[in-house]
Amino acid sequence: MRKRAILVLLLVFPCWVCAAPALEPAVLSTSDVSLMFQGGDHAPKLATLSGIPEFRINNEAMEPLPASVEINGASVPLNWEINREASTHDKNHVLFVYESANPHLRLDWEWEARAGFGPVEHRITVKNLGNRELWLPLIDSLRLQWVITKESLQHFYVEKGADTPSAHGTHLENLSDGYHWIGKSSTYAFPAPGEAREIIPAEFVFDAEHPQTGWFAGLEFSGRTRISLERAGNKVTSVLGLNPEPGPFRTRLEAGGSFTTPTVFLGAFSGGPDGAANQLRPWVRAVLGNPLTWKEPHYPYTVNNSWGSGMQVDENLALRMIADSKELGLEMFHIDAGWFRGVGDWYPDPKKFPHGLAYIADAAHKQGLRFGIWVDWTQAALDTEPGALNVHDPKVRDWLVADTPPNWKPEEFKGQTVDVGVPAARDYFAKEVKRMVNDYRLDMLEQDGYLVAKGCTRDDHPHAPPDRSTTKVVHDWGSDFVVASNSTDVSYHAVRAYYNIYEQTRREHPGLLFEICNDGGRMVDFGSAAHGDYFSITDTYDPLSNRRAFYDTSFMLPAAMLESYVEKWPTPQPENFLYMLRSGMMGWLTIMTDTTVWSEQQHNAAREAIALYKQKLRPFVRNASLYHVSERPDGVHWDGLQYWDATRKSGVVYAFRGSTADEDVHSFVLHGLESDRKYKLHFQDATAPDALSTGRQLMDEGLKVRLVRALSSELVFIEEAGSTGK
Ligand SMILES: [Zn+2]
Repeated sequence: MRKRAILVLLLVFPCWVCAAPALEPAVLSTSDVSLMFQGGDHAPKLATLSGIPEFRINNEAMEPLPASVEINGASVPLNWEINREASTHDKNHVLFVYESANPHLRLDWEWEARAGFGPVEHRITVKNLGNRELWLPLIDSLRLQWVITKESLQHFYVEKGADTPSAHGTHLENLSDGYHWIGKSSTYAFPAPGEAREIIPAEFVFDAEHPQTGWFAGLEFSGRTRISLERAGNKVTSVLGLNPEPGPFRTRLEAGGSFTTPTVFLGAFSGGPDGAANQLRPWVRAVLGNPLTWKEPHYPYTVNNSWGSGMQVDENLALRMIADSKELGLEMFHIDAGWFRGVGDWYPDPKKFPHGLAYIADAAHKQGLRFGIWVDWTQAALDTEPGALNVHDPKVRDWLVADTPPNWKPEEFKGQTVDVGVPAARDYFAKEVKRMVNDYRLDMLEQDGYLVAKGCTRDDHPHAPPDRSTTKVVHDWGSDFVVASNSTDVSYHAVRAYYNIYEQTRREHPGLLFEICNDGGRMVDFGSAAHGDYFSITDTYDPLSNRRAFYDTSFMLPAAMLESYVEKWPTPQPENFLYMLRSGMMGWLTIMTDTTVWSEQQHNAAREAIALYKQKLRPFVRNASLYHVSERPDGVHWDGLQYWDATRKSGVVYAFRGSTADEDVHSFVLHGLESDRKYKLHFQDATAPDALSTGRQLMDEGLKVRLVRALSSELVFIEEAGSTGK
């Protein structure tokens, strides 16, 4: 009997016996993933990942805890020992604690399941318990070394829609032997010449065969990060964390200070990329999202934005737009750039707004609209009025990422970036953000430009000083960007400070919304999702770019958080007008064109389309599963998306016909329905009469849509209508 018991133990915990860990293995489970961890004497390990339906992979690598630190320029080796008393685990949280005696450091290796479903999160914190400053090397957020048994693996990732979405924003690649990939993310999203575009920092890896099971992982941080993925034979290695390039990375750990790796999430899924996305989106909403925002039944709001008139916004235009917003049924009025006295001088221009911004806020509120503004609050420039952030003020000069050259001038709405990671600058900006929210009676604050310093040349900031021999200053978009060995550490400190200001502001102003714009889609990541309420997902606003950016981004983030700005676009036919509007109606809708010049017919069409969005589309945008039922939009062929709410047993298909001259009818193969159920189809524009179909037909042959004009669209509502009786 005894022999048999040992055998069972070996089968259940094979590595527990051979690696002789000091702690009992710990398990964390949600309804989608189960992870097992081992706390060895000198290092912890993620041992296995299991998913539902049944699949399991083993991880080979022990966690490589930092081997040394630097003290007074000398490398000092570390010996880590587990602290059994301090280590804990329960059903939602695993904490393995390791300590180094000399220098005295504590390392917390933590995993947490914050929802009953979806992925599990992980972070590592190192605390300096000694009394000397020291320097830590790079600690990755997560290192995986899976031993795989499936041959045909695929890797899926998406680009940010930064600037203009590229022609290939969604990538599905074979993860074959010899595969080597690195995806990067930062707050800038400028790829260096010859480099790939930045990604939304997450990866999906799955077995190509049905039911397409696999794992996904992503980073909840907006600073400079990277994900690498490689395959050698039956080993798949992936590393997620801060970007070690251009390095060498090091970060200061003062006495009593601590360093925490960017949080990662790790989960399991089936059903390929849409399967992963339909798990990830509700998880982001439940765990990272702002519960107060989601509690509002009208989120995501419909918005009228002033940028259709560029910098020429003033009180008259604002009041006209507020009246027209009300008439159209929009819910927020948003003043974009152009309202301020100058860059870094975030007070209303008295010539444009003689009664100030609170006056405009009151006018909007009186019409039942919310009110928000654009601001690029970490910029300094040349204004000298009280309250302006001036680059020549000695205090401000010390906060800048670099000195400004002689005769330097700001651009129209960009100046020199202040390093928000400097504590005094952080405190100043926290007050400045609070002032604007209070004085201008804001319901929404849109951040733009580059709030987070890319690099910094200063020696006396909290981050590591740069290696001057390799430092480059690049002038782009009206600002100087410093690229140096310390760039990742600069972004680490600046992002933490920026998050801290937003957390504080949210506490003080519950219900305030933050739009993450950052030059249009450059800061689209899971750290931003945890600190903001919605994203500008691209900086190009024609119907095709809006649909491309939405197609890509909606694999990663809740649709309600994904804002499309609808700009002026040629619409000779009423169908083209609806096509333009609907291309921005799959997530958060912001109109960014002067609606007062619309014809009466266009006004009527827009009013109806907005009412339909609020009544019938928005509930799907908030809650429904989403299926990408076409190839990525190319503007020529047809494309479409399907929302399906399994609880309400209803959904909608957005169908778009591109410029193609020879395809009047297109079939969209649907997902998520039940084969033996009947479904009622309602074609919103009456391009076909209402009809009944079966789940089998819709999921095998597809939903047929007929559109006779190029650049037109249709919305097909689907409702379950009982059993087929078969
Ligand atoms: Zn700095």
